[in-house]
Amino acid sequence: MNQIEEFTQKTFIELAQGLLYSIQETLLYASNNYFRLTLVSFLVFWLILGPKLTHFRIQPRPRTKTTIILREIGSSLLTFVVIGTINWFLSIAIPGDRYGLFYDNYYNDISKYGWTYFFFSIFLMLVIDDTYFYWAHRLLHHSILYRRVHKVHHYSNDPNPFTTYSFHPLEAAILFFGYRLTPSIIPVHSIAVDLWLLLTLINSVVDHLGYEIYPQWFTNSKLTNWKNPSTHHNMHHEKVRGNYAVTFRWWDKLMGTEFPDYQARVKAVQARKIISNRRLKTKV
Ligand SMILES: [Zn+2]
Ligand SMILES: [Zn+2]
Repeated sequence: MNQIEEFTQKTFIELAQGLLYSIQETLLYASNNYFRLTLVSFLVFWLILGPKLTHFRIQPRPRTKTTIILREIGSSLLTFVVIGTINWFLSIAIPGDRYGLFYDNYYNDISKYGWTYFFFSIFLMLVIDDTYFYWAHRLLHHSILYRRVHKVHHYSNDPNPFTTYSFHPLEAAILFFGYRLTPSIIPVHSIAVDLWLLLTLINSVVDHLGYEIYPQWFTNSKLTNWKNPSTHHNMHHEKVRGNYAVTFRWWDKLMGTEFPDYQARVKAVQARKIISNRRLKTKV
């Protein structure tokens, strides 16, 4: 073997090892965060307390079949393999970067911008990401992309926690780009990015829970009703075209894509919960 061949082989082995390490690291992150949260939510809401929480269900219809749930778990695993691969590629293309697409965008000393900005930056990341997601999601509902790509996320008309990251590999790449783009637009602290990612994950799982856990006062108050409750995205899975945003209602209201019966539906689901709770109390 000559020197060029030896160098090429060594580089190839190093690249392959780097790729495997990146995928392994992402799957470890997924098992500590995504899979732990989805599994606990599924066990608690769908299996252990399921029969007692029937009145909390958003769609009173026969549940998603086990075969579909297993397909969603498989798609979720593939999502993290795709993310690991992109992370590996970016680590080569942008050495030293951890979150954003531009290394200079994050800072280490919180006092540089203060605590107010620290918390405001988390809110700003939620807004930026929600904007990116809304438009990417609308694009994914274009008939060609829907049939070939986004349909994977719509296996379940009545979503469950494992639906959350059940994506076609191309959709996983498109949405993950938003996770890398968002912290690149404003100055961010690494802890703020971690908190934003955690909030986004919790919000996504709640969106796919299949149960409405937001109280009536939250969705009625003008101070808080701009935040999507679980019913908002659940209706997207049920009816497919409409309610595209997953965090805030702003974009759907602005673009006229919010289902006209959305608010009536939230009220109906919450009323079912209240009536059922009263019945339980009178029985006691
Ligand atoms: Zn969709
Ligand atoms: Zn969904």
